Amino acid sequence: MRRRHYHLLPIVIIISVCSFACKQEAQEPTKPIIPTSGDGASYIEYLKGNMPLILTVSHGGSEKPEWIKNRVCQDAVNVQDEFTLELAKEIVDALAENGTYKPFVILNKLHRSKVDLNRNRLDGTCGDPHSQKAYDAFHGFIQEAKTRIAQQFSKGILIDIHGHGHEVQRIELGYLLYEEELRVNDDALNQAPLLSYSSIQHIAQNNLKKLTHAELVRGPSAFGTLLQNQGFNSVPSKDIPYPQIDEPYFSGGYITATYGSYSGGTMDAIQMECNREQVRDSVASRKAFAKAFVASILEYLQTNYFEEIPQSKD
Ligand SMILES: [Zn+2]
Repeated sequence: MRRRHYHLLPIVIIISVCSFACKQEAQEPTKPIIPTSGDGASYIEYLKGNMPLILTVSHGGSEKPEWIKNRVCQDAVNVQDEFTLELAKEIVDALAENGTYKPFVILNKLHRSKVDLNRNRLDGTCGDPHSQKAYDAFHGFIQEAKTRIAQQFSKGILIDIHGHGHEVQRIELGYLLYEEELRVNDDALNQAPLLSYSSIQHIAQNNLKKLTHAELVRGPSAFGTLLQNQGFNSVPSKDIPYPQIDEPYFSGGYITATYGSYSGGTMDAIQMECNREQVRDSVASRKAFAKAFVASILEYLQTNYFEEIPQSKD
């Protein structure tokens, strides 16, 4: 595994839970280590869906309860992705207008200074037990949604929604491929090692039209191209196949790596970094982008995953 920053270490979680539980047992009951002034998990919202789509928003929250320590470990980045919670809710509403589709949605209302859910548990919580409760609830719900989708529909996709502050106003789609890896030719994108790094490698090898990985990343049916067709510039896409050398770009993080097919299985994942102008900056922008997103994701699922997008009864 060559990715340097995902740190997919479930063993760390187990050890850390155990050591906390063990410490707790060793304390006198009248002197708990942790102040019981709130429940970190109560800041996580889960909407159960009925279709093979998961939306996650980890950095959009603004709540800063004092009883959760501020994160200062591992050069913690604490910038909030403004209006991404609101954007996700607009997407839910726009999907409902397309019939009765409901995505699985996992939202975090805590500010990033309290928990970073797009990092491994240790770095994301800096060891704070309240922060850990939020972390475990958020990731537990994603896992539950992923399991339900696997059982009901056999495959699906997770879109991890973020907001970037880069100068170039366009959507950045992260498939766990660094910018220099996107600048290679299509043949290289379609083979190991790059194919084996991809967060959509399952559908790249099992799609309805037998499209290649490169076609799914930047061909006519790529998610970025479908967004571009709806009027929202996106990279990678047919028109913008890769970022230029001097252009900053987010290639995807912990959630995309953990729940997408980079880690095996039949769930793919894309990190969607939204620019501010015309996408997040007003209610009208968010409604317009949500409508474009829904048209694009439904077409993407219908073209590549399912002849007809399935829906469960509950
Ligand atoms: Zn973010």
